[in-house]
Order: sequence, then C-alpha cells, then structure tokens
Amino acid sequence: MRNHLSAKLTFVAAKSLCATNDKVSATIINFCIVKLFLLRCAFAASCTNTLENAMSSSHIQPRATTNHQTNHPQNGNHSHSAPRPTNELLASLPQSEYSLLQPHLRPFDMKLGHVLHHPGEHLNHVYFVANGMFSLVLTSKQGIEVEVGMIGREGVAGASAVLTGTPTMSIIMVQIHGSALVLPGEVFRQEFKKGGVFQDKVLSHIQGISTMNAQAALCNRLHLVEQRLARWLLLVHDRVGDNYLELTQEFIAGMLGTRRAGVTEAACGLRDAGLIEYTRGSIEILDRAGLEKIACECYEIMGNQFSYAVS
Ligand SMILES: [Zn+2]
Repeated sequence: MRNHLSAKLTFVAAKSLCATNDKVSATIINFCIVKLFLLRCAFAASCTNTLENAMSSSHIQPRATTNHQTNHPQNGNHSHSAPRPTNELLASLPQSEYSLLQPHLRPFDMKLGHVLHHPGEHLNHVYFVANGMFSLVLTSKQGIEVEVGMIGREGVAGASAVLTGTPTMSIIMVQIHGSALVLPGEVFRQEFKKGGVFQDKVLSHIQGISTMNAQAALCNRLHLVEQRLARWLLLVHDRVGDNYLELTQEFIAGMLGTRRAGVTEAACGLRDAGLIEYTRGSIEILDRAGLEKIACECYEIMGNQFSYAVS
C-alpha cells in the first residue's frame, strides 16, 4: 500500500509540474499513469496471493521440471555453491528464492544501441543487468528523445511491461554496453506472484523507476544544463561503476532533452573546474565529490531510489 500511495503522490506531483507547454511532459505524465497502473495491479496481485495462501496452501504447485532445469546442475542442493550474481537485485535475494530463478537465467550480451522494446510492443523477457546500462526513452512526434529513467546493475529491465502484460510507451535501449541475465517473462510473473523478498525488491525497483520518471520532468524543466549533466553523470556512474564512460555529446544532449551546444558548454564548464576530462566520444569522471556539489537536488532524490532498490 505504501508503494501504491507513494506512486500516486509522485504522479500528482509530476502532473502539476508539467501542466503547461512542454511537449515531452505530456508523454511523461502518460508514462507515470502506466506505472501507477502497474503498482495497483501488483498490489492487487499481492493481496490475491495472500488470500490464496490462506485458503489453501495446496494451490501453490511445485514447478514442473523443465529442460533448462534438467540441464542445469546448479539447481537444488548444488545451488549453495553457485557464485552470487553481479546484479544487485538478484544478489539481495535469499538463496531459497534465488535458486528458483537461477536455472532459468541465461547470459545476454548488451550491445550498444540495441533496442529491447519499442513503444506498443510486448516484452516476453526481463533483463537483470550485470554491468552496463539500459535507458528508458520517450520520443515526441517530432522525434525528440528524452531519457526518463535508467536501469543498471541495481535493477531489471522490462519488469513493468512483463508484469502487466501490456505494452508501454517507452523505448528500452542499451546506452552503456555490458551484459545481463535474461529471464523468461512467464517465470518472472510466476515467482513475483509468490510474494516474498523477490516481490518486495521488484516493487521497490519499479517504484524507483516511477520516481525517476517524475523527477526527470521537474529536472528538465527547472534546472540548468550544467546541473543536469552533473546529475546524469553521477547516476550513470552509480549504475556502471566505471569512471570512464563512452558517451558522445550528441547522445548526452538527447538523454537530457537539450541542445548539443548546451551540453558542450556545460561539459567545458565541468572540465575547466577539474571535475571531468572530456574527449571526443568519452568522458572520464575525475572528481565525483565535486560533481555532487554541482548537481541539482534531483541527484539525491534519484540516487536514493537506487539505494532503496539495492538495500
Ligand atoms: Zn534536476
């Protein structure tokens, strides 16, 4: 219930901030509506699951053995010796819950620019990031792209689309190349409905994405490009954990929803202050603490969501 109410408040705040002429804001509001719908469904699923458990524990059937499980020696007792996953959501699960997911997880190569999901499409899998980063991007009718969320090793891409079974309006694409573990959507839904720590962690992650969506609307409207660039670099750094980032100014401008010239000016300002080193196609973070002083207040709010998800 706390998540549900919090998401609703976040949506109301975003709506009030975006009530004027920002073309992208209307799309972001719609995106928040979908997130609110998702959390409502998830809460209802949680209640239903609890009721079902109370009525009859026999309704919970053990999963039938699949070819994947048969071929995977780490299932069952052997799972105790398996290495813990790099993805922090998976790593935070009790071994008893992780061992139910592990036989179905397969490696996935995150190639730069690969699009997992186009608006209106259905997703049949979810992706637990090990390293690298996905971005959630909205596009206006004029073709202007704005990033409204990011998913790194703290989370799972595609969760909302798979849980609702309905297409969402965002593009999910690889913005920092890396690797992930891919899980069939049916397995994801099945384990989510069982509740437990897994359900709590997934809901916390979705709540974080929802908050990030709303905060992005505020940030893009109110804060200076230099503040937003510092905020964005810190969020990427949190998720990737690497000081050296292969990013072009054109790409950053698209993610921040601003002009390339504005990004160039902001990047030069941060470089002159000794906070970053900038070359064509890459940025190196030299002084993270300095970036935190420059970044707008949105970094703390968005960064807290990252902390909640992995705690
Ligand atoms: Zn901001």
